Amino acid sequence: MTTANIRLLPLETPTPRPGYIPYRYARHWRSDIERANPLQPGIAVFMTQKAYIRANVHAQSDLDNEIGGWMIGSWRADQNTGEEFIVVERCLPALHVLRGSAYVTFTQDSQVAMFEIMEEKFPDKELVGWYHSHPKMSVFLSNYDLFLHNSFFPHPWQVALVIEPHGSTAGFFIRDAAGNLDNKAYYGFHELTLGKYHSVVRWTNMKEEITESPGVMENEDE
Ligand SMILES: [Zn+2]
Repeated sequence: MTTANIRLLPLETPTPRPGYIPYRYARHWRSDIERANPLQPGIAVFMTQKAYIRANVHAQSDLDNEIGGWMIGSWRADQNTGEEFIVVERCLPALHVLRGSAYVTFTQDSQVAMFEIMEEKFPDKELVGWYHSHPKMSVFLSNYDLFLHNSFFPHPWQVALVIEPHGSTAGFFIRDAAGNLDNKAYYGFHELTLGKYHSVVRWTNMKEEITESPGVMENEDE
Protein backbone atom coordinates (compact mmCIF):
# COMPACT_ATOMS: atom_id res chain seq x y z
CA MET A 1 0.00 0.00 0.00
CA THR A 2 1.41 3.36 -0.96
CA THR A 3 0.45 5.82 1.70
CA ALA A 4 3.20 8.38 1.62
CA ASN A 5 2.65 12.09 1.52
CA ILE A 6 -1.09 12.28 2.02
CA ARG A 7 -1.14 15.23 4.38
CA LEU A 8 -4.28 17.22 4.72
CA LEU A 9 -3.88 18.61 8.19
CA PRO A 10 -2.48 22.08 8.73
CA LEU A 11 1.27 21.96 9.10
CA GLU A 12 1.62 24.29 12.07
CA THR A 13 1.32 22.83 15.53
CA PRO A 14 -1.13 25.03 17.38
CA THR A 15 -1.34 25.41 21.14
CA PRO A 16 -4.60 24.96 23.02
CA ARG A 17 -6.62 28.06 23.79
CA PRO A 18 -7.26 28.81 27.46
CA GLY A 19 -10.51 27.61 29.01
CA TYR A 20 -11.98 26.11 32.16
CA ILE A 21 -12.16 22.38 32.43
CA PRO A 22 -15.88 21.65 32.92
CA TYR A 23 -15.75 18.81 35.46
CA ARG A 24 -18.57 20.33 37.45
CA TYR A 25 -20.93 20.23 34.49
CA ALA A 26 -20.17 16.66 33.58
CA ARG A 27 -20.68 13.05 34.61
CA HIS A 28 -17.64 10.83 34.50
CA TRP A 29 -18.12 7.46 32.78
CA ARG A 30 -15.31 4.95 33.08
CA SER A 31 -14.87 1.90 30.83
CA ASP A 32 -14.61 -1.69 32.04
CA ILE A 33 -10.97 -1.79 30.91
CA GLU A 34 -10.16 1.42 32.72
CA ARG A 35 -11.75 0.18 35.93
CA ALA A 36 -9.70 -3.02 35.80
CA ASN A 37 -6.35 -1.40 35.00
CA PRO A 38 -4.93 1.86 36.14
CA LEU A 39 -4.69 3.85 32.91
CA GLN A 40 -3.79 7.46 32.51
CA PRO A 41 -5.05 9.25 29.42
CA GLY A 42 -2.97 12.15 28.13
CA ILE A 43 -6.04 14.33 27.86
CA ALA A 44 -9.51 14.57 29.42
CA VAL A 45 -12.33 13.93 26.94
CA PHE A 46 -15.69 15.65 27.27
CA MET A 47 -18.64 15.05 24.95
CA THR A 48 -21.92 16.91 24.72
CA GLN A 49 -25.15 14.92 24.97
CA LYS A 50 -26.09 16.07 21.48
CA ALA A 51 -22.85 14.73 19.99
CA TYR A 52 -23.19 11.47 21.95
CA ILE A 53 -26.70 10.90 20.59
CA ARG A 54 -25.65 11.79 17.04
CA ALA A 55 -22.81 9.25 17.00
CA ASN A 56 -24.96 6.51 18.49
CA VAL A 57 -27.91 7.08 16.17
CA HIS A 58 -25.49 6.91 13.26
CA ALA A 59 -23.93 3.69 14.57
CA GLN A 60 -27.39 2.15 15.09
CA SER A 61 -28.48 3.12 11.56
CA ASP A 62 -26.55 0.24 10.02
CA LEU A 63 -26.17 -2.91 12.06
CA ASP A 64 -24.28 -4.83 9.37
CA ASN A 65 -21.77 -2.34 8.02
CA GLU A 66 -19.32 -0.01 9.61
CA ILE A 67 -20.20 3.64 9.62
CA GLY A 68 -17.94 6.50 10.57
CA GLY A 69 -17.45 10.20 10.79
CA TRP A 70 -15.61 13.10 12.36
CA MET A 71 -15.74 14.60 15.80
CA ILE A 72 -15.53 18.37 15.91
CA GLY A 73 -15.14 20.55 18.96
CA SER A 74 -12.62 22.37 21.08
CA TRP A 75 -9.13 21.72 22.37
CA ARG A 76 -8.35 23.73 25.49
CA ALA A 77 -6.03 24.04 28.46
CA ASP A 78 -7.47 24.87 31.87
CA GLN A 79 -6.51 28.35 32.96
CA ASN A 80 -5.83 27.31 36.54
CA THR A 81 -4.21 23.91 36.27
CA GLY A 82 -2.96 23.79 32.68
CA GLU A 83 -4.72 20.43 32.26
CA GLU A 84 -5.56 19.86 28.62
CA PHE A 85 -8.97 18.69 27.50
CA ILE A 86 -11.13 18.34 24.43
CA VAL A 87 -14.87 18.80 24.10
CA VAL A 88 -16.59 16.79 21.37
CA GLU A 89 -19.42 19.08 20.30
CA ARG A 90 -20.43 17.73 16.89
CA CYS A 91 -20.36 14.41 15.13
CA LEU A 92 -20.34 14.70 11.35
CA PRO A 93 -21.15 11.53 9.42
CA ALA A 94 -18.57 10.88 6.71
CA LEU A 95 -20.17 11.32 3.32
CA HIS A 96 -17.71 9.74 0.94
CA VAL A 97 -16.84 6.72 2.94
CA LEU A 98 -16.34 3.41 1.19
CA ARG A 99 -18.37 1.08 3.32
CA GLY A 100 -17.81 -2.56 3.96
CA SER A 101 -18.57 -4.97 6.72
CA ALA A 102 -15.02 -5.11 8.01
CA TYR A 103 -13.66 -1.62 7.65
CA VAL A 104 -14.47 1.98 7.11
CA THR A 105 -12.27 4.09 4.89
CA PHE A 106 -11.68 7.76 5.12
CA THR A 107 -10.76 8.77 1.62
CA GLN A 108 -8.84 11.82 0.54
CA ASP A 109 -12.06 13.15 -1.03
CA SER A 110 -13.98 12.74 2.18
CA GLN A 111 -11.24 14.49 4.18
CA VAL A 112 -11.27 17.40 1.75
CA ALA A 113 -15.07 17.61 1.96
CA MET A 114 -14.90 17.55 5.75
CA PHE A 115 -12.34 20.36 5.94
CA GLU A 116 -14.52 22.43 3.59
CA ILE A 117 -17.53 21.91 5.86
CA MET A 118 -15.44 22.83 8.90
CA GLU A 119 -14.11 25.98 7.30
CA GLU A 120 -17.56 27.07 6.25
CA LYS A 121 -19.66 26.06 9.25
CA PHE A 122 -17.26 25.65 12.17
CA PRO A 123 -14.36 28.02 11.56
CA ASP A 124 -13.53 28.29 15.27
CA LYS A 125 -13.61 24.57 15.95
CA GLU A 126 -11.01 21.86 15.83
CA LEU A 127 -11.08 18.38 14.42
CA VAL A 128 -10.79 16.53 17.74
CA GLY A 129 -11.09 13.01 16.35
CA TRP A 130 -13.21 10.47 14.54
CA TYR A 131 -15.69 7.74 15.33
CA HIS A 132 -16.67 4.50 13.66
CA SER A 133 -18.73 1.43 14.41
CA HIS A 134 -17.69 -2.20 14.84
CA PRO A 135 -20.88 -4.22 14.31
CA LYS A 136 -20.56 -7.65 15.97
CA MET A 137 -16.89 -7.03 16.77
CA SER A 138 -15.24 -5.99 19.97
CA VAL A 139 -14.11 -2.49 20.80
CA PHE A 140 -10.52 -2.11 19.60
CA LEU A 141 -8.49 -0.42 16.89
CA SER A 142 -7.43 -2.69 14.06
CA ASN A 143 -4.08 -2.20 12.34
CA TYR A 144 -5.93 -0.36 9.63
CA ASP A 145 -7.71 1.83 12.19
CA LEU A 146 -4.32 2.64 13.72
CA PHE A 147 -3.01 3.55 10.28
CA LEU A 148 -5.97 5.90 9.72
CA HIS A 149 -5.63 7.40 13.18
CA ASN A 150 -1.93 8.10 12.87
CA SER A 151 -2.29 9.38 9.29
CA PHE A 152 -5.28 11.66 9.63
CA PHE A 153 -5.42 12.36 13.37
CA PRO A 154 -1.76 12.60 14.39
CA HIS A 155 -2.02 15.25 17.09
CA PRO A 156 -1.61 13.90 20.64
CA TRP A 157 -5.00 15.35 21.63
CA GLN A 158 -6.98 13.77 18.77
CA VAL A 159 -9.00 10.70 19.76
CA ALA A 160 -10.85 7.77 18.19
CA LEU A 161 -14.25 6.50 19.34
CA VAL A 162 -15.39 2.95 18.51
CA ILE A 163 -19.03 1.93 19.01
CA GLU A 164 -20.40 -1.63 18.85
CA PRO A 165 -24.10 -1.09 18.11
CA HIS A 166 -25.49 -4.55 18.95
CA GLY A 167 -24.39 -4.81 22.55
CA SER A 168 -24.08 -1.04 22.90
CA THR A 169 -20.49 -1.02 24.03
CA ALA A 170 -17.95 1.61 23.16
CA GLY A 171 -14.66 3.20 24.06
CA PHE A 172 -12.44 6.17 23.44
CA PHE A 173 -8.85 5.58 22.33
CA ILE A 174 -6.72 8.31 23.83
CA ARG A 175 -2.95 8.68 23.61
CA ASP A 176 -1.05 8.76 26.88
CA ALA A 177 1.13 11.64 28.00
CA ALA A 178 4.07 10.23 26.02
CA GLY A 179 1.93 10.06 22.87
CA ASN A 180 1.57 6.26 22.83
CA LEU A 181 -1.71 4.58 21.92
CA ASP A 182 -2.82 1.12 23.07
CA ASN A 183 -5.22 -0.34 20.50
CA LYS A 184 -7.09 -2.41 23.11
CA ALA A 185 -7.16 -0.09 26.10
CA TYR A 186 -10.11 2.22 25.75
CA TYR A 187 -11.48 4.85 28.07
CA GLY A 188 -14.81 6.27 29.04
CA PHE A 189 -15.42 9.99 28.94
CA HIS A 190 -17.01 12.97 30.65
CA GLU A 191 -20.63 13.45 29.63
CA LEU A 192 -21.25 17.17 29.42
CA THR A 193 -24.72 17.56 30.91
CA LEU A 194 -24.50 21.33 31.43
CA GLY A 195 -26.56 21.17 34.57
CA LYS A 196 -29.22 18.82 33.25
CA TYR A 197 -30.03 15.99 35.61
CA HIS A 198 -30.55 13.17 33.15
CA SER A 199 -27.80 11.20 31.52
CA VAL A 200 -28.18 9.98 27.95
CA VAL A 201 -25.37 7.42 28.19
CA ARG A 202 -26.49 3.86 27.40
CA TRP A 203 -23.18 2.12 26.82
CA THR A 204 -23.27 -1.09 28.81
CA ASN A 205 -19.53 -1.35 29.44
CA MET A 206 -19.35 2.03 31.18
CA LYS A 207 -20.00 2.86 34.81
CA GLU A 208 -20.49 6.26 36.26
CA GLU A 209 -17.96 7.40 38.79
CA ILE A 210 -20.13 9.06 41.36
CA THR A 211 -18.72 12.04 43.16
CA GLU A 212 -20.18 13.16 46.48
CA SER A 213 -20.78 16.74 45.52
CA PRO A 214 -20.65 18.16 42.04
CA GLY A 215 -17.88 20.63 41.55
CA VAL A 216 -15.53 18.90 44.00
CA MET A 217 -12.74 16.70 42.70
CA GLU A 218 -13.05 12.96 43.25
CA ASN A 219 -11.65 11.23 46.30
CA GLU A 220 -8.48 9.26 45.76
CA ASP A 221 -9.67 6.18 47.63
CA GLU A 222 -11.26 4.08 44.94
ZN1 LIG B 1 -12.30 -0.36 13.16
